[in-house]
Amino acid sequence: MPSAQPQLPTLGVNGDRLAASLHESCQFGADHRYGKLSTETGMARLSLDDSDKAVRDWFLSKAKSLGCSTSIDEMGNLFAIRRGKNPNAPPIMMGSHLDTQPTGGRYDGILGVLAGLEVLQVLEENKVETEGAIGVVNWTNEEGARFPKMAVSSGVWAGAVPIEDAWHLEEVTPHEGKAKTMLQELDRIGYRGSSPASYKSNPFAAHFELHIEQGPILEDEGLKIGVVQGVQAFKWFTITVRGRDSHAGTTPLYARKDAVLVAAQLISAANAVAKTFSGLATTGIFRAEPGTVNTMAHTVTFSLDLRHVSNAVLAEMEAACRAKFDEIAEGTERGCEVGWALLVDSPAVVFHEDCVAAVRESAREVCGGLPGGQGKELWKPMISGAGHDSCYTNLRCPTSMIFTPTREGISHNPTEYCSAEDCALGASVLLGAVLRYDKLRADRGDFQQN
Ligand SMILES: [Zn+2]
Repeated sequence: MPSAQPQLPTLGVNGDRLAASLHESCQFGADHRYGKLSTETGMARLSLDDSDKAVRDWFLSKAKSLGCSTSIDEMGNLFAIRRGKNPNAPPIMMGSHLDTQPTGGRYDGILGVLAGLEVLQVLEENKVETEGAIGVVNWTNEEGARFPKMAVSSGVWAGAVPIEDAWHLEEVTPHEGKAKTMLQELDRIGYRGSSPASYKSNPFAAHFELHIEQGPILEDEGLKIGVVQGVQAFKWFTITVRGRDSHAGTTPLYARKDAVLVAAQLISAANAVAKTFSGLATTGIFRAEPGTVNTMAHTVTFSLDLRHVSNAVLAEMEAACRAKFDEIAEGTERGCEVGWALLVDSPAVVFHEDCVAAVRESAREVCGGLPGGQGKELWKPMISGAGHDSCYTNLRCPTSMIFTPTREGISHNPTEYCSAEDCALGASVLLGAVLRYDKLRADRGDFQQN
């Protein structure tokens, strides 16, 4: 047997222990039972509610039991840090979120935080002395489900969202009378910390996020790990089609300005354009006015979500849609007017090559040890279709992500599932990536004092 290198021990996580602690943490906010096993429920742990307070208490006591120092910032972000040989250098952080959708599952976000704790436990029990500190962060309100801005607290940390805007976000669904703000709820549950929520006073050396894929690709291709290169670009628009309302029985087809008919063709055309560019186009909201059976609509508004991995191709897709929409609107019967309003412009995120390389090498090693992993790579490079806290951390420190398979690609649903074995593989890749990055820092002299 080759002996493990002292600088980079070959360690694996304890999969049973990871699964047990993940489900233990899910006692807080478990909901939506779908099967007989105790773990066959979904989650309804909305940010800063009582169950979120309970899991935060649980997280901090668990981190303290591992010998970590803990802190809380003004957005309620929780940090648990395990010392390294160079305690004054910024830590490598493993981060994700413990909040869920109202009809959420047990893995989205939760896996990333619990895997981080498991990594710290493995380091602790193997008495591994890392060069720099290694920590775990739980980001507040990533889902944007209760307070309607996703990843808002990593956004504040990154300086991309003003803290006053974040604090004054009101809950989407008020429970007892008036809608409460994030600030009120942070204070109510005792989780408005004293340290500033900022990368300036609380810098990271790097941020690694393990997350379920939330799509079907790994499962469909029989793969185990996604080495995430970045996040695709997206733009959201509200499209308004203006025609003319008139009587359904007395207006011949040639004399119509039928906004619904035009809108239907636009949606279909956007889909066709997306297909030619290998992108995505989605309409999730559609409203017709005045909305009666025997009158054609004078106005239709619908949402259009366009996505592509490349900013440049997304721009081409948008231009192609605009040209096609004009052509359709002018060419249909007596014509309609089409207006575009931009709601969100989120450019593509490209993760840091050093972090991506650390994940890739770790995935290669972990997957190479699996049955069937010798002749065939069981991992592949991927682009994330969804946004994550890592998009914001990537603005301020080298960042990357690791994906695990997701049963039938379903998430934001109580039946969301990633097997205990796959969770453990993901956590082992996380462990290997963090140790590789720690070694890289030492090798390139991050800790040398002038
Ligand atoms: Zn998530």
